Amino acid sequence: MPTGTGGTEMKSGRRGKAGEIVVSGQAASPGVVIGKAFVIPHGLPVVPVKKLEAGEEVEDEVRRFRSALDTTSRQLVELQDNLKKKLSDQTTRIFDAHLQMIEDVMAVDQTIGLIREKRIGAEQAFTAAIDNIVKAIEAHQQDQYLRERLEDIRDVERRVLENLLGICDISRIRLKERVVLIAHDLTPSQTAQLERDRILGCATDVGGTTSHTAILSRSLEIPSVVGLGDISRRVQSGDKVVVDGFSGRVVINPKRRTIEEYYSKDRRYKALEDKLAELVSLPSNTIDGRFVELSANIEFPEEVTSVISHGAKGVGLFRTEFLYLTRESLPTEQEQYLAYTDVARRLKPDPVIIRTLDAGADKFSRHFQSAPDPNPFLGDRAIRICLKHKDIFRTQLRAIFRATVHGNIKILLPFISTIEELKKSLAFIRRVRRELEAEKVPMAGKVEVGIMIEVPSAAMMADEFVRYIDFISIGTNDLIQYVMAADRGNERVASLYQPLNPAVIRLIHQVITAAKRHDTWVGVCGEMAGYPHTALLLIGLGVDELSTSPAAIPGIKKIIRSISYQHARRVADKVLSLNSVGKIKNYLLAEVEEIDKGIKGLYGE
Ligand code: PEP
Ligand code: MG
Repeated sequence: MPTGTGGTEMKSGRRGKAGEIVVSGQAASPGVVIGKAFVIPHGLPVVPVKKLEAGEEVEDEVRRFRSALDTTSRQLVELQDNLKKKLSDQTTRIFDAHLQMIEDVMAVDQTIGLIREKRIGAEQAFTAAIDNIVKAIEAHQQDQYLRERLEDIRDVERRVLENLLGICDISRIRLKERVVLIAHDLTPSQTAQLERDRILGCATDVGGTTSHTAILSRSLEIPSVVGLGDISRRVQSGDKVVVDGFSGRVVINPKRRTIEEYYSKDRRYKALEDKLAELVSLPSNTIDGRFVELSANIEFPEEVTSVISHGAKGVGLFRTEFLYLTRESLPTEQEQYLAYTDVARRLKPDPVIIRTLDAGADKFSRHFQSAPDPNPFLGDRAIRICLKHKDIFRTQLRAIFRATVHGNIKILLPFISTIEELKKSLAFIRRVRRELEAEKVPMAGKVEVGIMIEVPSAAMMADEFVRYIDFISIGTNDLIQYVMAADRGNERVASLYQPLNPAVIRLIHQVITAAKRHDTWVGVCGEMAGYPHTALLLIGLGVDELSTSPAAIPGIKKIIRSISYQHARRVADKVLSLNSVGKIKNYLLAEVEEIDKGIKGLYGE
């Protein structure tokens, strides 16, 4: 966690050296970048209101509308063709439906009729025509098929409006040069689709340090700051900006001296990284010989290269939902099998912990949800969705089981909150395994099944849960938000999202103690595993494993290799005796900076 955790800085901008503006938010992904801003306009397209002159102007508007329809059709056909090469027929069908809507005589005729009769702009006329169609569909409330088409209609409406207004969708942006991306928000799937080699850094108005967007930017090693309030309105494309992913600051139009200061900070960070790279092939043992497993969190199979190059031993968390979120159709059993096999083979004999689908919350997917939940983090998510959509769950489990012959694969169930849910999940896993056995499909003899502890009810009941499972992985990102009742992605409550709150630490301690009592392996795969001061605490609390983004691995290894387990235990005991976030944070930072002097002041500035 950045040191800002537990006490955020003000979000309002403050004037620094004349002309430059410093805006403070949440440090989301480390690194310093200086470059030209590319701002993504915020919000739904604003429909302009205009009154046209009769005659030529009206007919020009009709032509402009027809041309926007043609452009949209062409884009859809192109998208469809590209996807056809990689994906199944289901994708094609979705785009067929969209193309049909564009050609829908009713919407086209109504729009042109409105432009001519009311002499209004094409955007306004098209929106009115679509609204009429939507209202007619909504009148047929009982028709599930039609209701599901509403989302498609809105999607097509957005595409046509974007073409009329000359705005483009983020996933369609093709950057010509390397830029700092500035946006109101980026969803996890948008972040996953960014052209990595063109993005120097990111800065967004909203978001928290453990939102999935922030986690992805760490995986992609894109320096980022989130929760900056209104940065997307303050910055214009082409402005020079500095993004400091350590302190959580963005400087707009920096002075030369400021730029030099940040270049120097960047050099210091890179030198530190080079030094840490020397540890890559060394084991993660404390100086008194305790082995702390150090593994990586990944979202895509391609990240395995980075896992290996950063010296992680295996994958402690494979967030498989990203295989689903970045595409239009569900991944097939074979596609998933190939993805899991690829990762397991390349990391063999190190373990690969594959987490079953954790969709929902900020990872909304139209495959399982007809609309976003009104309170998404407390709604249908992860195992809750899988137990309702057994066909999807079965496909994934079959793919995982089939891949087990290629490496050391374990299964991890996310978001378990009750014993009943756990038992149902385990029974279903056994059933799928039996089905495969009946089909004589080769599988590993024993496949360990563990659960994420990320809901307080599961944490409190950990000593009961461990009777049914092989291992535990503590998901601190969610555990913190549910203990503190502070949304992990909402910058407005960032100061309450406190990894070092004594309540959070005591609960984690309780889970580790319960696991140890039953001789059950316990790891941590939340972001707390990836920051030196919180990692030190977790080691002292007795975890067997820390799993974090690949780039954070060397820094954590440095901590492990610099301390004795006895020392870490004394640190944890001291922390357990403290009763406030402030005291705990100051104590841990002082300890960790003493252990690794190189990081002094890097995060806080
Ligand atoms: C967690 O909640 O800590 C976790 C690792 O899962 P995710 O961040 O994907 O919700
Ligand atoms: Mg989680």
